[in-house]
Amino acid sequence: MKLGLFGRPVSHSRSPRLFARLALLLKRPISYEAVLVEGRLASAVIRARARGWDGANVTVPLKERAAALADRLTPEAQALGAVNVLRFGHGVDGHNTDADGLRDALRAAGFAVRGKRALVFGAGGAARAAGWALAREGAASVRFSARTASRARRSAHALAPHFGKTRFSAGAPVAAEVWVNATPLGMKGFPDRSPAPKTLPSPEFAVDLVYGRRTAFQRDAARRGARVTDGAGMLVRQALRAWEYWDKPLGAKRRDALAVPLLKEVLK
Ligand code: NAP
Repeated sequence: MKLGLFGRPVSHSRSPRLFARLALLLKRPISYEAVLVEGRLASAVIRARARGWDGANVTVPLKERAAALADRLTPEAQALGAVNVLRFGHGVDGHNTDADGLRDALRAAGFAVRGKRALVFGAGGAARAAGWALAREGAASVRFSARTASRARRSAHALAPHFGKTRFSAGAPVAAEVWVNATPLGMKGFPDRSPAPKTLPSPEFAVDLVYGRRTAFQRDAARRGARVTDGAGMLVRQALRAWEYWDKPLGAKRRDALAVPLLKEVLK
């Protein structure tokens, strides 16, 4: 398969390494090229298709633009308003594997979300994907908390119609058993502080979407007694789900087996 990545920047991305390793593990030759998109994403897609690409990953800040240019979207991609994987065939199909990637990672970490209250810090594409994943896993409620209240409200409104059994809300942080950090706090180049107020009761689990570093959020949640995981599991799992979207289903057992060496690759 001929694959690649669109983003700005792309030089930091671990995707080329991740997919090269996955292709080796599956004994499936691929080419994978990271393309820095400084102009229009649509033009980059046309050029890639002309060169025979079968599909592509999309990263920041192009996920919303990718959703707008796709001819068809999966329900997740439509609700999240963001696409992280494109498939080229008769037209352009768009999907978002962040939500399923997080669901797979939560299960692998042994976090049972059913019936729990969840608090998501942030209200961007990753926060919405987290909200989708938590609701699919049976969370009783999902609260989005971000500095821009209107964006948090929009996230809650976008997901609520898809899940009758999960209560979505937006506003100041409230008590919850599951916390997700979907803000860039703790990422390289951003302040490293926990978005959780000190007075908030402790969660049982905390998931940081930032990966590869022990952030203030992770330290804060661990100090409060929570089980903590970072975003490396989600990164690997969303990549496995993207592969399935381009190729064919691997199944849960195979994904679990492949995740082990891929996690090592990502954390190198
Ligand atoms: P984004 O669109 O920029 O959204 C970031 C959100 O965080 C915004 O809603 C922002 O809203 C909020 N925020 C920023 N500072 C905050 C603070 N101090 N307190 C509360 N909220 C704050 O980014 P994104 O694409 O959703 O990505 C978010 C993070 O997830 C990034 O670190 C990204 O690398 C990570 N991510 C990881 C994976 C993975 O596989 N592990 C996948 C996707 C994304 P306000 O400015 O209004 O507060």
